[in-house]
Amino acid sequence: MTNFPADRATALARLADFAPHAGRDYAAGRNYDDQTHVSVLSPYLRHRIITEQEVLTAVLRHHTPSAAEKFIAEVCWRTYWKGWLERRPTLWAGYQAELRKTLDDVQTQSGLRSEWEAACLGQTGIACFDHWAQELVTTGYLHNHARMWFASIWIHTLQLPWTLGADFFMRHLLDGDAASNTLSWRWVGGIHTMGKSYLARADNIAKYTNGRFTPTGLAHHPYPLDTTPHPPVGPVPQSDWINPAKSSVHLITDDDIAATQPDMPTATYYNAAGRSPLATAPIIGEFVDPALTGHGPALADVGAITAWAVDQGAQQLVMNYTPVGPTADGLSGLRAALDAQGITLAVHIRDHDRTGWPASKAGFFKFKAVIPDILRLVADCREPQLGLV
Ligand SMILES: Cc1cc2nc3c(=O)[nH]c(=O)nc-3n(C[C@H](O)[C@H](O)[C@H](O)COP(=O)(O)OP(=O)(O)OC[C@H]3O[C@@H](n4cnc5c(N)ncnc54)[C@H](O)[C@@H]3O)c2cc1C
Repeated sequence: MTNFPADRATALARLADFAPHAGRDYAAGRNYDDQTHVSVLSPYLRHRIITEQEVLTAVLRHHTPSAAEKFIAEVCWRTYWKGWLERRPTLWAGYQAELRKTLDDVQTQSGLRSEWEAACLGQTGIACFDHWAQELVTTGYLHNHARMWFASIWIHTLQLPWTLGADFFMRHLLDGDAASNTLSWRWVGGIHTMGKSYLARADNIAKYTNGRFTPTGLAHHPYPLDTTPHPPVGPVPQSDWINPAKSSVHLITDDDIAATQPDMPTATYYNAAGRSPLATAPIIGEFVDPALTGHGPALADVGAITAWAVDQGAQQLVMNYTPVGPTADGLSGLRAALDAQGITLAVHIRDHDRTGWPASKAGFFKFKAVIPDILRLVADCREPQLGLV
């Protein structure tokens, strides 16, 4: 089982170890759940302790794009999901509303409550599922294939509400991410790609756990979930102009910890309570808090951020974009609050996202067309490894 010290040096060392294996080794072994063939970098990427561009740069030092095609595609799945949710933000709000309603049901329906508790505690009697529930709670990480099997058993075999499963992940995953998590659960449940669900099969689990688990009694048919058409695709967010003549302060959030501006007073913001209406696992704070430490005062909300910017005599607050999710929720009134004090909010979107998100319109197959442009950013080194611009 992997540990996750929350520092950039660990992430870079892990990347350096992994990069030579990102080609054929990864493609051949990534579906085995033993964690020896995957990068285990997701907590660092999720909080941008290291960036996608740094990861792709390291990998392309060892492999051609075609040799590392599978790994590059997986990194781009993150970009695709993030762009997909960015352009349909009501799906995140809809998930949160449905989750709150389902948590009310949990309070009033004792049968649902005990089944949900047994699933979260790893006490269902399905050995592999119980193992993964406990592994997630203990480590804050699960291999991708285990996440797929787990979500499938949760939805199709145990027939528990998918929002409760997505919430269980959000409360425990160090890499818990509004886009990758919500949309992956929807995909497993058959409500992302209409009519296409993911069904975990006993022989597939036996093969890719190297025979550790051969479950019986798994669902043979998907459990039908209510589907509604996707909301229409919205616009791609744009960067603001950063006025170099203005006296500026810099806000770092847990969505982009690598964004440094050494010449500006800096503070941090992290919406620790925003992942779930329930308490999140302490392990998440133990990962994120140290990663933000040393970047200035930790500010609790929009009011505290505005007061701090005023206190610093700022004319402009500069920050990297916070994508749809808990941190953006917590900062939703920031622009207006700063405006009222005569301070401009200047938000920067990294080249990586600016290049990928316009292609997050339909399926991943179409998104793939933009991957050469994303790789060209690496080749051109247009984006510095740190910083806003
Ligand atoms: C139900 C479910 C929930 C998930 N929830 C999250 C989540 O909350 N946060 C999260 O970062 N990922 C999530 N994933 C995607 C994926 O499981 C993890 O990103 C991956 O397991 C991380 O391990 P790794 O770093 O070793 O990945 P590697 O295989 O080494 O891949 C490298 C990087 O690519 C990205 N990546 C890889 N696979 C995917 C994928 N399928 N979707 C999106 N990005 C991917 C990650 O940033 C990862 O670190 C979820 C998948 C499923 C099926």
